Amino acid sequence: MSNFLRPQYQNLKPYTPGEQINADYIKLNTNESPFPPSPRVGEVLRSGIEERLQLYSDPTLGELHRAVAAKFGLTEDYVMAANGSDDVLAFAIMAYAGGGGTVVCPDITYGFYPVYTNLFGAKLVTHPLCEDFSVNADDYFNAPGTVVIANPNAPTGIALPLSEIERIIAANRDNIVIIDEAYMPFHGDSCIPLLVKYENLLVTMTMSKSHSLAGLRVGFAVANPHIIADLNRIRYSFNPYNLNAISIKAAAAAIADDEYYDGCIAEINRTREWVTSELVQLGFVCTPSVANFIFAAHPAIDGGELYRKLKERIILVRHLDTPRTRGHVRISIGTMGQMVRLITEIRSILEDKNA
Ligand SMILES: *Cc1c(COP(=O)(O)O)cnc(C)c1O
Repeated sequence: MSNFLRPQYQNLKPYTPGEQINADYIKLNTNESPFPPSPRVGEVLRSGIEERLQLYSDPTLGELHRAVAAKFGLTEDYVMAANGSDDVLAFAIMAYAGGGGTVVCPDITYGFYPVYTNLFGAKLVTHPLCEDFSVNADDYFNAPGTVVIANPNAPTGIALPLSEIERIIAANRDNIVIIDEAYMPFHGDSCIPLLVKYENLLVTMTMSKSHSLAGLRVGFAVANPHIIADLNRIRYSFNPYNLNAISIKAAAAAIADDEYYDGCIAEINRTREWVTSELVQLGFVCTPSVANFIFAAHPAIDGGELYRKLKERIILVRHLDTPRTRGHVRISIGTMGQMVRLITEIRSILEDKNA
């Protein structure tokens, strides 16, 4: 760190991304899809799009907004896309909590919420998850600021029923409630239908997980038009060209291909159920995940040790070294073949320990 960095940034604790190792690891650590994106993405990339890259991308993002709006049966003014949903979350936390506001979220959730809270000079209030790692909706009633809930939550994969989500939104008429639906497509229960009833609801989504496009960097906000206008005010004050021309076209093509992605999601959900039952037979306790990952702990082996032993065997999972999560590992759902390998290696690691 140099001496020039402003004091308010000197204690920033940046987000730690999962390892992105370029070797032959079976990569089950950042909840990417094991499947390639829709073939329509390749068609866009082969369409000669490079011949238009001397022009700025469209700051209105019209083509992409129309595709997202059509998918959810909304009008375009309910949508704002950005460079990954991390971008959307940053704009939203800046807009509704920046410079002295408050962000309220669970103690165990997506690691970027506290990072943005800190970056934008907001205060953080956290509520512990229940003993079973579920969110207690009542904790968020009449919150002292902007509420952020991932549903399903990460790294647990547990979803709150929509009726509970609605109780939180209804009990916060004076606050924005951000529902991060990064993993919603694996479960299917979006709170978008609640937008007609609640002006304080902001839904964020990403194409990184369910749509196999983590590297393209596209996410979006869905909310009532006055909320979308706030977010655009921030976006146009920061970088109106935050989405490049290739991402706009490729994401618009992908989002229309429900048939392809429904197949991928069904396969991932089937594989998750299989892996979960195998892990339970090996003595693991798993949270009831409805997402594309499993959160599992074994009484005989610490999460950190299991992470290291799997890494020696060329399998990467995620270990989150905090007091309530260090016994667990988070395992992304790969292909059936990858998961068979995982179970074989875990069985052998446990046998080595008993020997
Ligand atoms: C992965 C993830 C995101 C970020 O997604 P990007 O669109 O890739 O930035 C946001 N929220 C949660 C809960 C996630 O797991």
